[in-house]
Amino acid sequence: MNAPDPSPALLARLRGLAHVALDMDGTIYKGGTLFACTRPFLAQMRGLGIGCTFLTNNPSKSTDDYVAHFRKLGVEATREQLLNTTQATIACLRRRFPAVRRIFALGTPSMLAEFSAAGFALTADDPDEVPDAVVVGFDLTLTYARACRAAWWIQQGKPYLATNPDRVCPTDQPTVLVDCGSICAMLEKATGRAPDIVLGKPDPEMLTGILERQHLQPAQIAMVGDRIYTDIEMARRAGALGVLVLTGEATAQDAALAQPPPDLVVPSLAEFGALLAAARAG
Ligand SMILES: [Mg+2]
Repeated sequence: MNAPDPSPALLARLRGLAHVALDMDGTIYKGGTLFACTRPFLAQMRGLGIGCTFLTNNPSKSTDDYVAHFRKLGVEATREQLLNTTQATIACLRRRFPAVRRIFALGTPSMLAEFSAAGFALTADDPDEVPDAVVVGFDLTLTYARACRAAWWIQQGKPYLATNPDRVCPTDQPTVLVDCGSICAMLEKATGRAPDIVLGKPDPEMLTGILERQHLQPAQIAMVGDRIYTDIEMARRAGALGVLVLTGEATAQDAALAQPPPDLVVPSLAEFGALLAAARAG
């Protein structure tokens, strides 16, 4: 499949782009293997003066962990270019719950360290240490006692945020990686309460955060990803250009059936780069 000839309206939209937000798995790599087109695409964006940020719904690794992971794959990225849902949750707490200082959180040591570094006090598993809010993440270190303590504070009516909606985290190992959405389902079964806010794609917080930091308008950013119901839906909610690549989950048939359709469907990042360059040149 070749990329379609873009309409004049789409060309104008492409010409106006100043920033590209990229999904990771299925968009720039598959598992541990970088796509051949990724490094040329990133070099092309640098040449065009278009900024790039990488987004992930996974809060279990810190931005420093991702910088190291990217370097191993052969991609140089700065901490500022890597956005996870821990940061989206911190931004959401600051904006919507400015009085929250103390949180009880279910998360990995990496995630908890990011909350501490952002100035939040983490309360212990202790009924006398009353938190201002509960945060539930993709906790690969989950213990029964801490799950019970989270349920207690949720039942007490504390503000309750989840880092991401994913039920499972994809893996090629013979196991099911129980993700944040499933931990929240367990807590809802126990307490009758679902999270007040669920960050992570398709929630637009990560994109609106980029727009604020870079002083950009929604028309100046594209969100590129391989999933219609997360990546493309997030673009729609943020008013960004939604670009679907067919190197991951969604097929050309999925794209044809999608309602509303993505703004642009391309086989891979290579064709998107070529379209951007052509729009700039034209
Ligand atoms: Mg993906």
